Amino acid sequence: MNEQTLAIHAGYDGNEFGTMAVPIYQTTAYQFRDAQHAANLFELKELGNIYTRLMNPTTDVFEKRFAALEGGAAAIATASGMSAIFYAIANVAEAGDNVLVAKQVYGGTTTLTGHTIRRFGIEARYFDVHKPEELEGMIDERTKLILFESITNPSIDVADFSTITEIARRHGVLTCTDNTVATPVICRPLDHGVDLVVHSASKYTTGQGLAIGGILVERENLVEALKGNERYYHFNEPDPSYHGLVYTDLPLPPFILRARLALLRDLGAAPSPFNSWLYIQGLETLPLRMRQHSASALAIAQFLESHPKVKKVNYPGLKSDPNHPLVQKYFKEGMASGLLSFEVEGRERAQRIADATKIFKIVVNIGDSKSIITHPASTTHQQLSPEELEAAGVPEGLIRLSIGLEDPEDLIEDLRQALDA
Ligand SMILES: *Cc1c(COP(=O)(O)O)cnc(C)c1O
Repeated sequence: MNEQTLAIHAGYDGNEFGTMAVPIYQTTAYQFRDAQHAANLFELKELGNIYTRLMNPTTDVFEKRFAALEGGAAAIATASGMSAIFYAIANVAEAGDNVLVAKQVYGGTTTLTGHTIRRFGIEARYFDVHKPEELEGMIDERTKLILFESITNPSIDVADFSTITEIARRHGVLTCTDNTVATPVICRPLDHGVDLVVHSASKYTTGQGLAIGGILVERENLVEALKGNERYYHFNEPDPSYHGLVYTDLPLPPFILRARLALLRDLGAAPSPFNSWLYIQGLETLPLRMRQHSASALAIAQFLESHPKVKKVNYPGLKSDPNHPLVQKYFKEGMASGLLSFEVEGRERAQRIADATKIFKIVVNIGDSKSIITHPASTTHQQLSPEELEAAGVPEGLIRLSIGLEDPEDLIEDLRQALDA
């Protein structure tokens, strides 16, 4: 089936009541048929619902539909994008291990990897997404994961998948892509050799800025990379916390199974069934929306590129952008999503432009149907000195835009009057 059909139907084919829409199963727990049924479920002799911290029928549809869109074997939904990223790490790494993380990642991923997991004894080592060959010298026997974004937020770079996955495969290390900004409509990392995909569902998945959520997807046949791989011994040895279960011995996707049985059980970042329902509504229109976000962003990037007060435009969809060859190699139909940034002269002018826009709202979010303008130097990157801002690729005059679904001509008019204000 093709993507637009999967987006509408995957994971749900009606129920005993003939409900056309996916129902919201707003429940904490589930009734067992009898005591033996309950015991069978706990022993995994039968698969079924036990408790909503672990699984829920509404969330199950969202997970199946998202896995289908990413071309993966299985998925697990979480309460936020950050918890999905943490679970991807916590499912492989323990004290004494290390993970390799791209320097160009979301701010929350930088603080999670640089500070929080460090307190758990897990070291993060950073590589430049433009120099993936650096990975070769960084991998050792305690390296458990390579984490990077397909389109980086906020620097708007594109990852060279094949170089990264080729190095990772040679060393038997798993790779994980944060595909939040690209979405599976534009890029499917699993098709380019990646093992795991994480998302913040808070962005393009709901598409309207409605709810916080995340999801983690595992590729088909990941068991081949885990089975007998000493790096991931805990997938091959009996889990004492689950009566000696060996994850790679079961005919189920092992990474998601362990994330559910061990991490959701113990850490509990489970999504609300209502939020899962919102993501299901969002996914139905995701392919249509991403085409429009991408087309509008390209038109706006072209307008900005030709404006005399704009020093530089960063949008991988532009032919002049250094990331453009990677867009052509890895992204569908030349789409490059709705995120772009541009530079004007100095902090004051940038803030004046943000204040002068009428349709764009000053918000620190992306992936909404409503257009957003952000001045990173005074908000998300406020704590950095001018020198640190330059090093982070965030000049003082940089403005980030998340292009929504308004008429692109109206958005261009709004930016034109703001630039002249
Ligand atoms: C927003 C975002 C996250 C964090 O997701 P939350 O749902 O806000 O926890 C992670 N990665 C990227 C690329 C994001 O844009």
